[in-house]
Amino acid sequence: MRIDIISVVPDLIKSPFEGSIMQRAIEKGFVEVHFHNLRKYSTNNYKQVDDYQYGGGAGMVMMVEPIDKCISELKSERDYDEIIYMSPDGETLNQKQANQLSLKGNLMILCGHYKGVDQRVRDLFITKEISIGDYVLSGGELGAAVLCDSIIRLIPGVLGDETSALTDCFQDNLLSPPIYTRPADYKGHKVPEILLSGHQQKIEAWRDDKALERTKALRPDILED
Ligand code: SAH
Repeated sequence: MRIDIISVVPDLIKSPFEGSIMQRAIEKGFVEVHFHNLRKYSTNNYKQVDDYQYGGGAGMVMMVEPIDKCISELKSERDYDEIIYMSPDGETLNQKQANQLSLKGNLMILCGHYKGVDQRVRDLFITKEISIGDYVLSGGELGAAVLCDSIIRLIPGVLGDETSALTDCFQDNLLSPPIYTRPADYKGHKVPEILLSGHQQKIEAWRDDKALERTKALRPDILED
């Protein structure tokens, strides 16, 4: 997989890719991530990429031309499965979308800033708009990092234990069961006996029960899905 991320502040987004699972996925060649500084595509000497809104109102708007130049350059080099704009009014990110996107070859992600991008960018180039939740961030960078993490960990082979992503929350419309590690008794608080029993079938049944119980209690809405 290849992911191209376009931003006016690319430094803001690099560090999540420099540690843990995303770094390993890059090092092992499961994914290539490229950052593009939009200012490089500015058409004036001041490296300007935003301007006042037509019709007045507070907040600067990211101009269509530098974005067009950047996206067009990338598109001339390869085909993209999706060109995503991070936006609070996009489809809210969920595990199903992450699963679908993890199967793609080339993704482009545009991060907005200021008041957002000129509507014509969305009309002309964007194939998918994704929000990471009903709140407003200062820029799309942190959202793009969240999106990339949710996708990259699902690429087959990225997580050491192949089954580990499959047993995460939301994969079967269920939350995860409780998990424990050593010690078996912490100040009188004991690990459930069944987990120490060695009966794998019974343990799985217990985990299924607990996952269902937890989902019913905390997120009945995803069960109904
Ligand atoms: N004026 C816009 C908000 C702009 S916030 C509005 O009211 O809808 C600036 C940028 O941050 C956006 O262009 C978008 O790329 C990013 N952003 C803000 N909130 C986000 C969210 N919840 N999910 C994804 N991206 C978000």
